[in-house]
Amino acid sequence: MRISEPLHHYDIVIIGGGLVGASFACALAAQTRDFAPRILVIEAAPSMQVSTSFDARSTALSHGSKQIYASLGLWKVIATHATPIQRIHVSDRGHFGAVRIDRANMQVDALGHVAENQHLGRVLTDALDADPAIDFLCPASISSLVPTPQGMRLQVQGDSTDLLTVDAALVVLADGGKSTVSEQLGISSSLTPYGQHALIANVAFSDPHRHIAYERFTESGPLAVLPLAEQEGEHRGALIWTLADEEAAAVAALPERQFLEKLQERFGYRLGRFEKVGSRSLYPLTLSVAREQVRPGLVLLGNVAHSLHPVAGQGLNLALRDAQVLAELLAHALAQGRNPGDMEVLQSYVKQQARDQQATIGFSDYMTRLFSSSHPALVWARKFGLFSIDMIPTFKRGFARQAMGLAERRQQRA
Ligand SMILES: Cc1cc2nc3c(=O)[nH]c(=O)nc-3n(C[C@H](O)[C@H](O)[C@H](O)COP(=O)(O)OP(=O)(O)OC[C@H]3O[C@@H](n4cnc5c(N)ncnc54)[C@H](O)[C@@H]3O)c2cc1C
Repeated sequence: MRISEPLHHYDIVIIGGGLVGASFACALAAQTRDFAPRILVIEAAPSMQVSTSFDARSTALSHGSKQIYASLGLWKVIATHATPIQRIHVSDRGHFGAVRIDRANMQVDALGHVAENQHLGRVLTDALDADPAIDFLCPASISSLVPTPQGMRLQVQGDSTDLLTVDAALVVLADGGKSTVSEQLGISSSLTPYGQHALIANVAFSDPHRHIAYERFTESGPLAVLPLAEQEGEHRGALIWTLADEEAAAVAALPERQFLEKLQERFGYRLGRFEKVGSRSLYPLTLSVAREQVRPGLVLLGNVAHSLHPVAGQGLNLALRDAQVLAELLAHALAQGRNPGDMEVLQSYVKQQARDQQATIGFSDYMTRLFSSSHPALVWARKFGLFSIDMIPTFKRGFARQAMGLAERRQQRA
């Protein structure tokens, strides 16, 4: 997808067409149909489909994210390739106690769904392609981004175009966790490395998963197996295995049989015997939170604003809630004839999402630290924690609502 002659002025330019930038573009176009703002998405990858956002990973989409995609008319297509999670089972290797959260207790059809990122990428790209409200420049890179009295001025280099100058009332920066643009702007982030890598692969096992998502905590970090649709009679799951930095590369390089033996030893036999593993990728894990999310004419969205540990499956789910709220506020501002890059508008976004962001970042960081340690006091706390969450219905419900991406949304609407 490409446009050969972009305009020189846009209301909103989105830098980065990954999971968050593309989802936000769809949300913004849907919210602003009546005012027809000019929207441009700029993506650096040679084509949308090869964006690193749409790689071989799978994403656990919460019930809240399903509702957001449904409101954009995208859920039906996403659901054709998404596997429902009917139960979440959280356990601690070597310790007694487990938390079980069932869809029946939460009165929903599914606690969440597991979608393969490549499929999400196809759905989002098709939606952008079909929307006449959105212009798209891909591949293209940003040579400079400077503030102007009306917003931002960008110099953009397309692969076969001259250097373009584009003015925007608002730039939404969604260029991911390794954002060179935020670096150029001097926006720093607070970085907390976890000393861990996530090893990602698809695995096949002997027993059906019965739509259960397993989270298992081990001394070297958490390990999750999310249910995937059967393929050619094979029971499949998406493995997210957190490993200490020192052992990650060696485990990823193990011959298949030894890899499966090690996985079996860490995970146990809840899915029967592990039989196969697909290609393996490693992602270094750092909690990163930008020190500024807005400036006049600029807002940061997705991983550039906050990158979380993947253990609790919250990163994209939080970013989708951010994107939805931002789109609603911008639509409101445009309806009133206001500049979407106005600091008052952007600060109302920061204010509205602050509690959700703090709670979600805190939840995933707490889970990671509590469950990655073999310190005796933490082992004891964890044992007690698992027991208490499972036995005290109110706590369990709070835990489940956070995992389902519903906790803060209900408070906001109350
Ligand atoms: C192993 C792992 C498992 C995860 N599992 C889950 C899960 O189960 N549930 C969940 O909610 N979250 C999960 N996450 C988090 C989720 O993947 C991220 O929140 C999400 O990918 C963030 O998307 P993004 O669009 O902000 O960034 P990215 O995915 O990094 O996309 C950024 C996009 O911007 C483009 N770009 C970069 N620089 C430029 C530039 N200068 N100009 C133009 N374009 C540019 C890139 O090409 C890319 O397309 C997981 C993360 C990891 C690492």
